[in-house]
Amino acid sequence: RFITFEGGEGVGKSTQVKRLLQNLQRHAIEVVRTREPGGTPKAEAIRSFILQGRSESWGAGAEAVLFAAARLDHVNQLIAPNLANGTWVLSDRFHDSTRAYQGLTGGVDDKLIDALESLALDGHAPDLTIMLDMDPVAAFKRVADRAVEDGLALTGDRFEKEELDWHIRLRDGFLAIARNNPERCVVISAAQHEDALEAAIWEVVRQRFPE
Ligand code: C5P
Repeated sequence: RFITFEGGEGVGKSTQVKRLLQNLQRHAIEVVRTREPGGTPKAEAIRSFILQGRSESWGAGAEAVLFAAARLDHVNQLIAPNLANGTWVLSDRFHDSTRAYQGLTGGVDDKLIDALESLALDGHAPDLTIMLDMDPVAAFKRVADRAVEDGLALTGDRFEKEELDWHIRLRDGFLAIARNNPERCVVISAAQHEDALEAAIWEVVRQRFPE
């Protein structure tokens, strides 16, 4: 089983990926957790190359191509071999992020996104995608609170550089992807306590994969 988690910035994906991992392990299911951009040494190198060098932006088209190269390595080296062994794979972001960030928000043409997607997935589409949805204003507050708790300034964070409009378009992008893929995607409100959210995700996974 291949499950991906998607959503905008600050919706709490990473926490929920960890919690689902623990819940599956408690049920003696073999499972690995990974993330994108990244997941393998080569793909992580592409991640740092793009995310750390963002000030000298490559442009969304080049980012889409580079993330696709990273994804192809991730699929071939980690995702496909684990699935072939019967191990479940949970990924914090996957191909929908490229469509939402570089495509629907970044302006890269649908045809290029489609072509890169089929190249990089190599037949390994997720069985289930959990879309964590939150009003960007609430998500911003979450990120800001966390930064304050951690004693960090928000320097370099996308929230500083970008307008709220951008986050609203990103959210609409993810929701459009979910509407276009109703069999695969389940939208869950991330504006609930993380324990309630964990329970909601667990319910979806149990219903989808009852075995
Ligand atoms: O999910 P995570 O917060 O680790 O993502 C790291 C950063 O990568 C985010 O700021 C997100 O905006 C960015 N990203 C992107 N394009 C993607 C995937 C992630 O710009 N396709």
